[in-house]
This record gives sequence, structure tokens and C-alpha cells, in this order.
Amino acid sequence: QTIGQFFDDICHRHAQREALVVRGQSVRWTYAELRRQVDSLACGLMALGLEAGDRIGIWSQNNVEWVLMQFATAKAGLILVNINPAYRRAELEYALNKVACKALVLSPSFKSSDYLAMLGDLAPELASAAPGQLAAARLPALRWVIRMGRETSPGMLNFDDLLNAPGQEALEALAQRGETLQFDDPINIQFTSGTTGSPKGATLSHHNILNNGFFVGEAMRLTAEDRLCIPVPLYHCFGMVLGNLACVTHGATMVYPSEAFDPLAVLETVEAERCTGLHGVPTMFIAVLDHPRFDEFDLSSLRTGIMAGSPCPIEVMKRVVERMHMEEVTIAYGMTETSPVSFQSHTDTPVSKKVSTVGLIHPHVEVKIVDPEGRIVPRGQTGELLTRGYSVMLGYWEDEARTREAIDVAGWMHTGDLATLDESGYCNIVGRVKDMVIRGGENIYPREIEEFLYRHPDIQDVQVIGVPDERFGEELCAWIRVREGASLDADGVRAFCQGQIAHYKIPRYIEFVSDFPMTITGKIQKFVMRQQMKERLG
Ligand code: ATP
Ligand code: MG
Repeated sequence: QTIGQFFDDICHRHAQREALVVRGQSVRWTYAELRRQVDSLACGLMALGLEAGDRIGIWSQNNVEWVLMQFATAKAGLILVNINPAYRRAELEYALNKVACKALVLSPSFKSSDYLAMLGDLAPELASAAPGQLAAARLPALRWVIRMGRETSPGMLNFDDLLNAPGQEALEALAQRGETLQFDDPINIQFTSGTTGSPKGATLSHHNILNNGFFVGEAMRLTAEDRLCIPVPLYHCFGMVLGNLACVTHGATMVYPSEAFDPLAVLETVEAERCTGLHGVPTMFIAVLDHPRFDEFDLSSLRTGIMAGSPCPIEVMKRVVERMHMEEVTIAYGMTETSPVSFQSHTDTPVSKKVSTVGLIHPHVEVKIVDPEGRIVPRGQTGELLTRGYSVMLGYWEDEARTREAIDVAGWMHTGDLATLDESGYCNIVGRVKDMVIRGGENIYPREIEEFLYRHPDIQDVQVIGVPDERFGEELCAWIRVREGASLDADGVRAFCQGQIAHYKIPRYIEFVSDFPMTITGKIQKFVMRQQMKERLG
């Protein structure tokens, strides 16, 4: 099935149930209303002359328009291109041109920067162009710029104008378009997080992400009774697939607390909306748990959710289960290129397994762990994780070379992650191939040292990297964020390690920091840390 077919069916079955709540925009829609709005937008986009397979970018934080775009583009067969709202001029230009976007939808409502001005710099022609006639030297494929809201800007269309009630003819054209679409057509280009370098555009089909959303919801035991709080960004698969598609495939309610992550908005929303689920990367859960007003809120409605994106420290997991009542929280592992999830714990997975593994392989996905020569390693040993199945992307957009590097001829996706599988099939992510430190011939997994250091009561956050060293090839370096009010120095950290972990695992360099370089999804960019250390150490 295509996303459109599935979506229509669910909207019909759950017509009178709440589908979407967007706090801040006063949206509270049933599935029937959601479908009406989605169809209006799909017709509006088709009326612009956009054809199946055309790329349309969206450059915005979370809002109701984003949700509508996700389903309207799927119904109209357009390829939605998720553009990180943190992108600046050069990155936007790169993304739009890389995939030749014909249209761009943007939200000018962000507080932090002037998006319109940025676009104006790229397309000075905008102000003098009639909508649809844009021909900007720097953005040659772009024809339409669509601005969310009612306000007007020269050369741009208003999003709300695309939502006019469509006539019978337009609805028929939409239905006809739907019949021409195939389940394995590309429907979405998502850029990877850029944790290890520049983001890559993964091309995904209806089949890829619809099925993944369904199985993600299954693992959480979602039903139409559930209400999922989604503070993770929609431009990333975490929001779009683990959030929206998991909900829609189960008739559950999508609840949006704020445009961008805000721990207080999460607390308020979970309480006011009686949410049963909550998603987040570990750093988001930490921010919620550490919020000074945490104790004021009633979070007893929570049951499940997903913590994913990076390893979850044991201490954080314990607090999520005990203080946020999320006994049925699941851990998921995945990557943009695999739609994204391939491992997930179940709601009844023992907490000990939730903290030490990323759960079990998803239905209909194969897995193997191999050494650098491609041989399968014995159970329990570390190697690179490879996955294969329905969830592997179609490829990186128009990038044969990188696609072939990532997906081999037998269809295996090379994840770039180091992992082990235990006897019962639980997977442990040990780190990234690129982050492994080799010190004097010893393989060191930074994750192991991070887990150890987290046990220190004064350490709030810690990241370990390798830095070049003449004698040993690489030396370990720890960046530490000290808990508020506590004081800790490098000697204190070393004393804590002494006798507890092997001498070569004790970090040579210890830096105290207030922040880590991060992607907008809250992932720590170790490649940036390595660059900075290299400069600092000369
Ligand atoms: P880029 O590919 O651009 O460097 P990225 O790999 O971070 O960025 P994503 O596709 O968003 O981009 O993230 C996938 C990666 O996140 C995985 O390859 C893995 O390294 C990490 N990851 C995801 N889930 C988990 C998890 N539960 N535990 C540990 N690591 C995880
Ligand atoms: Mg990656």
C-alpha cells in the first residue's frame, strides 16, 4: 500500500477520534478533519502543477503545516525533502540544489533568525517574480516559495491559500493521482544528522517508512487509545516516522508540545493532554528530568515512548522509569538510511536489558555482525552491524558512489556502527566505527569509559574521544560537564578511575566544558570535538 491509501483507510476507521493536537496553534482535529485538511493541501499543491516525483522542500520547525505536508505530499506523489531548520544559507542552497527542489515551504515564524532575509540573499529575484515564475540564478530548479501563515511576502504564495476547499474535480484528480502511485516510489528525502560529517540525503519509499512506522508502534503496543507527546523534530525521521507514522498506523493521537524542544512545554503538555507516550533523545529526557519545576507536574498518564538516537546512560533510564512512570519505555536503534528503526526493545523487556542493549531485531529485518574482512563474528564479539530488508533506503539521492559504499550488492546496509549480539539476540551498540580509539594497538570503545564515568556523582555529562598522539597513535580525551554546584578537577577524575578500569583506559586529557557541539537533534558531534582538540593541542 501507499501512504495515501493507508492514511485514507485509517482516517475512515477512526474518523471521530482525535488525530492531532498542536499546542500553540490551537489545533485539535479528529482524523476526519485531518483528512479534510490533508486533501485540501494535496489539491492545492497539485493545482500549482506539481507532478508526481517532483521534489518539494520543507524548512520549518514543528507545526501543523508540517504534519499536513507530510501526508499531502504522500497523497499527491510529491517527494518531500526534509530540511533542517538550523540550516543556514550555504546548507540550504546545497540541499535545495542537491535534489533540485521545485518548491519550498517555509515558516517565517522562527524567533532566532530571519529566514526570509536568508532566502532573499539566495534569490534576490524573488521580490520581482510572480509566484511560480521564480528563476533564481543560485536556485535554478526552484519555482515556488510558499510561506506559512496568512502574511504576504513578495514573490511568495501563502500556505493558507493552498488550503481552500477543493472542488469535486480537484478531488477526483487527486484520487486519480493516487492510483498511479506505487508503494516503492520514492516519497521522502531525509538528510542524515551530520554526526560524523556532512549530511547525506537518504531517499525513502512509501513501503520503507510506512512499514517501519507500523512496526515501531507495534513494539510500543500503541492503540487508538494512546496519545503520544512528540517533542522531537519532524524534519528528522524521529518525529516523522517514530512519531507521526507510528501514531497514524495505529489510530493514536499525535500531540505537539512546541515548535522546538522545550522541557517545560513537555511537562505541561503531558499533564494537560494526559499523554501516554513520550519520545526523545537521552539529552531531552535529561532536560525534562532536571527541570527545576519537574516535581510540580503529574506525569502518571505516561506509559511508553521511545528513547533513541544515542546511547542512554543507565542513570537516566532509571529516572525515566521511576520518576516519569515510563515502565514500558522502549529503546530503539536505527539510522535515517533504514527508515529508520531496525532494533527496538519491547514494552516488557526487562529494565536491565533496556539499559544495556537496544533490544531485538525488528520483524522482517535481517542482521549480521562482521569483522573488517566481512566475516561473521562469533556471538558476543564486536564488529560492524549490517542490516537487510524492506527498510533499507532506495539510495542516497543521485549519489551512486556513496550508495554503493553503503549498500553492498547483496543488499546489506553497512551501518558504520559497532555492535554485539548476545545469545538471546539483544543488540548492544558499542560505538561508531569512526569513533573507536586505537591506543598503542588496544581497541578502546569510548562508550565503555563514558558509562564508567557517569557513575561519578559530580559528573552530569561526559563524552570521550580519541586525539592524535605521537607515541600511542591515539590518546583518550574526556570532556566533562560537572553537575551544578559540584566541583571536580582532573585529578579527582583520575583518582576515581584508578584501580577501577585498566590504566590505558584512563583519559590522558580531561577537559571541563559547559556544552558539547551538537546537531539540532541533540546528538553530540564527536568529529567537531576531535577538530577542536586537535587545534588546542597543536
Ligand atoms: P551522519 O550519518 O550524517 O553522520 P547520523 O548517523 O547521526 O549522522 P542518523 O541517521 O540520524 O544520522 O543517526 C543514526 C545513528 O545514530 C546510528 O548510525 C547510530 O550511530 C546512532 N544511534 C541511533 N540509535 C542509537 C541507539 N539507540 N544507541 C546508540 N546509538 C544510536
Ligand atoms: Mg549515519
